[in-house]
Amino acid sequence: MHLLRFQCADYRNIEHCDIRFSPGVNLLAGENAQGKTNALECIYTFARGKSFRGTSDENLVRFGQKGFYSEIAFSSCGREQTLSYRYWQGERQRCCNRAVEKKLSSFLGRFRAVLFYPEHLNLVKGGPAERRSFLNVAVSQCYPVYLSLYATYGKLLEQRNRMLCDLQHGLPADREVLEAFSYRLAHTAAQIHGCRSSYVGQLCRFVPDIHRDLSGGREEFSLSYRNEVPADTPDLTAAYEKLFTGDLHREACAGMTLHGVHRDDLELTINGISARSYGSQGQQRSAVLSLKLGEGEVARDITGEYPVFLFDDVFSELDEKRRSYILGDVGERQLIITACRREEMTAHADPHVIVVQDGRFSES
Ligand code: ATP
Ligand code: MG
Repeated sequence: MHLLRFQCADYRNIEHCDIRFSPGVNLLAGENAQGKTNALECIYTFARGKSFRGTSDENLVRFGQKGFYSEIAFSSCGREQTLSYRYWQGERQRCCNRAVEKKLSSFLGRFRAVLFYPEHLNLVKGGPAERRSFLNVAVSQCYPVYLSLYATYGKLLEQRNRMLCDLQHGLPADREVLEAFSYRLAHTAAQIHGCRSSYVGQLCRFVPDIHRDLSGGREEFSLSYRNEVPADTPDLTAAYEKLFTGDLHREACAGMTLHGVHRDDLELTINGISARSYGSQGQQRSAVLSLKLGEGEVARDITGEYPVFLFDDVFSELDEKRRSYILGDVGERQLIITACRREEMTAHADPHVIVVQDGRFSES
C-alpha cells in the first residue's frame, strides 16, 4: 500500500497543502513547530479514525476557522482509492472514493498505516492500558470486525458495572438481567480474546527476529499475551461465563467487573527479564521499534501488502546502526518520516524530501 497524495485545508497550522509522495522513503523536513507532526497526524486519522494525540475535531481546526478538510489518495492491490473527511461546525462527512460513507467501520480498514511516535515509548514503559491500546489499534487494522466487537464489549461492561455499582450501594438490581449481561459479555470477551491471541501469535513469528537483527544479535526479545484465561482453553466462552458468573459477591462489593479482557496485558521481556522494569532507555526504544516493524509484517501477512509506515521524529534518537537497519532494505515498504535535520537520514537513504515551513509544504 502506498500513499500517493495528501491534501488538507485549515487543519491545525496548515492553511492549505497538497503533497505527493514517492514509493520508498519520504522525508518531511523542517524546524520545530512548522507542521510536520500535524501532517502525519492528519494522514493517520484515515487509518485510526481519530487524532493519535487524542485531540477532538473541534480543536484540530485552524485557529479562527470553522472547519477543516482532508483527503488522501493511495494505491492498494493495484487500485487507486481516495478517502476524504470534512468537519464543519460539529458536522462530519466521510467519503470513500467520492461517495458519502456514513458507517465509520466501512471507512476504516481501507487505508492501513503503522505509526511510530516518540510517546510510544510508553508501550514498554507505561501501564497495561498502553499495551492494550497498541493491540486494539493493530488488531483492528487486520480484523475489521474487531472494532465493533470492542465497542460492544465497552457498552456491555459499562451497563454491567452500573448494575454492580447499584448493588454496592444497596440499591435493588435485577439478578436475571445482570446474569444476561454476564453471558453477553462472556461471548464478546471470548471473541476479543481469540482475535488478540491469534494476533500476538502472528507478532511472535516476526518480532524476535527483527529485534535480534536490530540489536546486532545481542538481545532476545519475547512477547506473550497475558490473560486470566489461558490461551489453550478449549471453550473460551464457557471460561468467561464462569469468570463473570462465579465471583458476583466480590464484584458487587467492589461495584465493578473484576474480570475480563479490559484487564489484559502483553508481557515483554528482553533477554528473559521484564523490559518495563529493567530495560535501558535504548533497549525500550528498540523494543517499541521492533513491535512496530512487526506490526507491519503481520499486516502484510494478513492483508497481502505492507501498510504505510509513519515515523514521527524517531530517527534523532536512534544510533547509526539502527537507522541503517530501518532505511537499509526498504523493499516494497513506503516510509514517511519527519525530522528537523535532513542529514539525520540522507547518509542512509536518498529520500524524497518535502520541506515544511510555517504550515507550508514544498518539494526541495
Ligand atoms: P517539532 O519538530 O517540534 O515536533 P512539528 O513541525 O512537528 O515540530 P507540529 O506539532 O506539527 O510541529 O505543530 C506545529 C504548530 O501547529 C505548533 O506551533 C502549534 O501551535 C500549531 N497548532 C496546533 N494546533 C493548531 C490549531 N488548531 N490552529 C493553528 N495552529 C495550531
Ligand atoms: Mg513534531
